[in-house]
Amino acid sequence: MRDKIRSLRKVMACLTGVLLIMALLIPAGGSTAFGADAQSYDVLIKGGTVYDGTLKPPCVEDIAVQGDRIVAIGKLEGKAAKTIDAQGFIVTPGFIDIHEHSDMIVSMLASGEGVTPAMKEEIKGNLNAIYQGVTTVVTGNCGNSATDTAQWFKMVESMNFGTNVMHLIPHGAVRFELFGEKNQPLKLSPKQLKKFKARIEKEMKNGACGISTGLSYPPGLGTTTEELIDLAKVVGKYGGIYATHMRDESGTLLEGGNVAVLESIKEAIEIGRKSGTPVQISHLKLAVPHSIKASRMLTLIEAARQEGLDVTADSYPYTSGVTGIEILLPNSFKKITGGIADRYKTKEERAEIKALIQGLYADIPPEKIILISCDKKEYEGKSVGEIAAMEGKDPSDTYVGLVCDHVTTGIIFAHNEQAMKDFMSNHYVFTCSDGYTWARDIPGAHPRIYGAFTRKLKVFALEEKILSLNDAIRSMTLLPAEKLGIAGRGKLESGAFADIVVMDLNTLKDKSTYENPAQYAEGVVHLMVNGVLTIEDRKLTGQRAGRPLKGRGRPVLK
Ligand SMILES: [Zn+2]
Repeated sequence: MRDKIRSLRKVMACLTGVLLIMALLIPAGGSTAFGADAQSYDVLIKGGTVYDGTLKPPCVEDIAVQGDRIVAIGKLEGKAAKTIDAQGFIVTPGFIDIHEHSDMIVSMLASGEGVTPAMKEEIKGNLNAIYQGVTTVVTGNCGNSATDTAQWFKMVESMNFGTNVMHLIPHGAVRFELFGEKNQPLKLSPKQLKKFKARIEKEMKNGACGISTGLSYPPGLGTTTEELIDLAKVVGKYGGIYATHMRDESGTLLEGGNVAVLESIKEAIEIGRKSGTPVQISHLKLAVPHSIKASRMLTLIEAARQEGLDVTADSYPYTSGVTGIEILLPNSFKKITGGIADRYKTKEERAEIKALIQGLYADIPPEKIILISCDKKEYEGKSVGEIAAMEGKDPSDTYVGLVCDHVTTGIIFAHNEQAMKDFMSNHYVFTCSDGYTWARDIPGAHPRIYGAFTRKLKVFALEEKILSLNDAIRSMTLLPAEKLGIAGRGKLESGAFADIVVMDLNTLKDKSTYENPAQYAEGVVHLMVNGVLTIEDRKLTGQRAGRPLKGRGRPVLK
């Protein structure tokens, strides 16, 4: 997807933006929204077991909705235009996906190639998220996506998107836009830095909720920590966060005995410490080689939190990711503008990559690197192992050829399973999908886009009991809402926006698999976004009510 993303970025960037009135400021529901006419509600959700987003023990309550707000919770009588019987079901706040990439897909839709009307409806609905109970997504992650916040928010409104959207400023994409695709400077001059900071400030004023970096992707992989501290200071001034796909997520042993992922966590913490800006470590994982235990990573985060720094993370409940297969190589093998460094054009130099991948095959066999897209079409859907067998080559030579001579995206089973479980049981690790809105007829999706939230609840809370249901729900509601400073969401209480999920734990299931990904999750009986029922009796109503949710857009006092 990364090559598409490049061109999408250009599409997004050349559209002009119009500043929208902050959705949060519109008092939808009017003057009666807070109970002046409390006996007559728009919707009354009766008798569900309410998990309100906090750790309060669940209890059976009714929830009254008027306009886009919850107006009462408790034992409620009174009339309602619609009454929903939630007995036997749980009721939770709509889930917040703090790490998502829908902005890339929607801009693909704008270009229109190969997208049928039916696919458009699925994409506009963000249905793969909706069916999991997700009502708000945070886009702009990993440093690479829509650079014009105002324009993206305008699209969210005009297409009537299915979920609410918050947006991060993508560091890498903006850097490419400001300083060119070809001659990216490694270190910015004072003048360039000033220009970058001014642009970040503009996007924050237009409603972004922070900045994201992709430090194992170009051009982030070549940028200095100092640059990131300077830019993080700007977003911090406006109440934003610093979200980071770190430089190296692997257990690679570096010269001097340091471990790559630990050094990367230290860098993220240092950026938080020196900028004073809250840090969000994106899709926390331990990638191959699995040379350490998760506890060493968590200890660093806990020490930073003890120091008083606001450092949190998010993770998805799968042991594979989707990206260019060169992700398995350290940044030193890559160019700041993308691809493998030019020196690997010779046979001798390629031997260095070969030796490295041979080492990694102990933790990730070539069958576990599966191409979902490639500029050589006959490779698509095949693993590196299968391609090697097909061509009668050594699998490590096949890998070298793929990263040096082709553009690939693969599902890569590089993450340590025990570490994944160890991360998610901590209250400072929220839930994310690392997904995007999608249509089932488009092949090549990772199951996480259809099932991350459902899987965490079903498999890891209810079945394996790695964390309690209350903890799991909080990790996808109140905790991310607090981190992002979203007012009135993430908790079921009177006055909050009516983003509500009614869920049947008996039928809860993430159905999407690697073999057959295009399957929506099951278990959401009713789902409301801003007071509008998008799912009713397990079926789509055809109504969508997502809104752009702006960050503060003004300096915060510290
Ligand atoms: Zn990422």
